[in-house]
Amino acid sequence: MEILGGTIVTPYRVLKNWVVLTEGGLIQRIGKDLDHSRGEDKIDASGKLVLPGFIDVHVHGGGGKDTMDATYDALNTISMAHAKGGTTSIVPATVSAPLGQIVKAIEAVKYAKEKGTSGANVLGIHLEGPYLSAAQKGAQDERYIRSVSLEELAELTKYARTIKAISAAPEVDGVLGLAREMSSKGILMSIAHSDATIYQVEEALEAGFSHVTHLYSGNSFVKRINAFRYPGVVEAAYLFGELSVDIIADGKHLPPYLIKLIIKNKGINAVNVITDAMRAAGMPPGNYKLGDQDVIVDQGVAWLPDRSAFAGSVSTMNVMAKVLAEDVGLSMQDVARMTSTNGASLLGLRNKGVLSEGKDADIVILNKDFSVFMTIVGGEVVYKTG
Ligand SMILES: [Zn+2]
Ligand SMILES: [Zn+2]
Repeated sequence: MEILGGTIVTPYRVLKNWVVLTEGGLIQRIGKDLDHSRGEDKIDASGKLVLPGFIDVHVHGGGGKDTMDATYDALNTISMAHAKGGTTSIVPATVSAPLGQIVKAIEAVKYAKEKGTSGANVLGIHLEGPYLSAAQKGAQDERYIRSVSLEELAELTKYARTIKAISAAPEVDGVLGLAREMSSKGILMSIAHSDATIYQVEEALEAGFSHVTHLYSGNSFVKRINAFRYPGVVEAAYLFGELSVDIIADGKHLPPYLIKLIIKNKGINAVNVITDAMRAAGMPPGNYKLGDQDVIVDQGVAWLPDRSAFAGSVSTMNVMAKVLAEDVGLSMQDVARMTSTNGASLLGLRNKGVLSEGKDADIVILNKDFSVFMTIVGGEVVYKTG
């Protein structure tokens, strides 16, 4: 395949009018004056942006389906719904639920990863919950929030090769043990739905936590205990260089000024974009379920029924890239880092997240208005407009 005439964002360079050649699922060449006379599979990207495909390490659903549906069909639908938004790799996320349901979801993801999907690649699973703080539950179902038991730890350890990330609250009983066990197996441990003080975050760092899930959503702030102030998870995220963070850049969860504040303090390489999308991504407004919970989709975001909090986003990655470029004012190079390069490095993927010779041919081509023109996964077109 030859992609011609576009503006290529690698994201280390911006190359106008260069050519991307792919072969055997890999990027074979990126060059200025390549011989493209062979005439096979030419894609005209004139006036468009060519970026590394988006990598979403935290996505619950899309196209009407949810990871907790725990079927291949649901995961395939989610992979397609997000490929339409330019995403080439996803890590489907669970919610707090009985262990049996979580294990079913893990089994389905394991199968989808092996079999392959028609849209974005399924890389593995992200366990969000059930080891969370009820005080910061957000849209997580409190009935299923609990501490870590030895039986559950033993069961989850069996699936360590399928689990890519765990979002948990470090102050919950047993979570530090879980973090030591899972981080030693290369699984990303991320602080989430946590009411921890900064002193508890120190212990979390020692146990292997290295990331904070959706900063500002379900994280503690500075609080007063007996008149004394205790910094929380948000302050710890700013203070500790060891912690990277992710943001939901749908323009609803975080206003542009907060995104600017986060980037200014953490640096562009430590801020990763996730959709945290639920099943209504790519679907019309209305009433939907998040796990067992009812949620309302309205004004481009999911809400709890009493509208006290957001319950996940319904945006795809291209919408987030648009918010970052147009509302936050970032360069396309920075947008590409936050939507692809950083996700690849969080998961330790050396073959993705950059447009460079020898890397996987996972590519998104965007129109000037950030609508998706084409999504390419492993050198195959999985989505094309119209
Ligand atoms: Zn969450
Ligand atoms: Zn989530």
